[in-house]
Amino acid sequence: MIPGGPRVLVTGGAGFIGSHFVRELLAGAYPGLDGARVVVLDKLTYAGNMANLAPVAGDPRLTFVRGDICDAKLATELMRGTDLVVHFAAESHVDRSIEDAHHFARTNVLGTQTMLRTALAADVRRFVHVSTDEVYGSIDEGSWPEYHPLEPNSPYAASKAASDLMALAFHRTHGLEVCVTRCSNNYGPYQYPEKLLPLFVTNLADGLPLPLYGDGGNVREWLHVDDHCRGVALVAQKGRAGEIYNIGGGTELTNRELTERVLGLCGADWSAVRPVADRKGHDRRYSVDIGKISDELGYTAHVSFEEGLERTVRWYQTHRDWWGPLKARDRQAA
Ligand code: NAD
Repeated sequence: MIPGGPRVLVTGGAGFIGSHFVRELLAGAYPGLDGARVVVLDKLTYAGNMANLAPVAGDPRLTFVRGDICDAKLATELMRGTDLVVHFAAESHVDRSIEDAHHFARTNVLGTQTMLRTALAADVRRFVHVSTDEVYGSIDEGSWPEYHPLEPNSPYAASKAASDLMALAFHRTHGLEVCVTRCSNNYGPYQYPEKLLPLFVTNLADGLPLPLYGDGGNVREWLHVDDHCRGVALVAQKGRAGEIYNIGGGTELTNRELTERVLGLCGADWSAVRPVADRKGHDRRYSVDIGKISDELGYTAHVSFEEGLERTVRWYQTHRDWWGPLKARDRQAA
């Protein structure tokens, strides 16, 4: 452990997963990172929200910097004295990448390369690149091990695959201590209400229909954000440099099954669902093999899906003050 606590630079720390990581890190949830001093670098795009950091806003160990991960000058300043970079910042919504992939290429690929290059120049001890299972493509049966070739399908997944490989290249070429994590679908509080679960719960609260893609048969593995972030923290502390770690261990459900559970928890029925044309190039199924992180780092998922889902649904039902303004802004922009 570093005296005074390590200095941790968290990119995208005002987003859904990054803010969970920051709140938990400052609360001392990750042994070995106790006492961390945290710098959040976030551009506050539509998906970034200071309200996500409100619970820790007064913490003297937190510094927030509004800025772009593509800004090499700023990144150079922030990397100075940094022990660990946890890189969450990205454009993250597949549908938006289908509409226009420009920001995905810029932020996810060039932004990641900027972070890697400035981390290398500043002798940062460790860099965790947060990737996704979507880089593997789609799998009908079985689960992907980390050595499976990358076969991304959406522009989002392709941009994440490029940044994932760039991160590994900085290890192989320059010796930067990079670890890559590839996680399955996350759910939990503070997720932007464009993503399936918060969209459906908040639409039900507003008496709006639930737009379900295609036949609803696409399968996703749902993991609570808390388990994802614990996995990232484990990799940051104990992962081997240059290695990739899948994170999962959640619950596999078709979108139809997830919708049924949400309807049940909200006291609604299938009449609320409005089937819509399928997403272009929609991946059918994702599934990661988590043998490596479990065996090497002792990772297991802690949050049971039943409990996690119910808590999450209740959180959105009781936090209209958080999502109401976001949905109102999106309606105005439409
Ligand atoms: P999010 O969209 O909620 O948050 C992204 C954050 O990055 C926002 O705060 C945004 O303001 C910030 N950001 C975007 N562009 C930026 C830029 N150019 N400079 C600085 N900040 C910028 O995303 P999320 O769901 O929290 O995902 C975080 C990371 O985890 C992403 O890298 C994503 O690919 C990965 N991931 C997400 C999931 C999931 O289910 N959500 C699963 C696996 C991996």
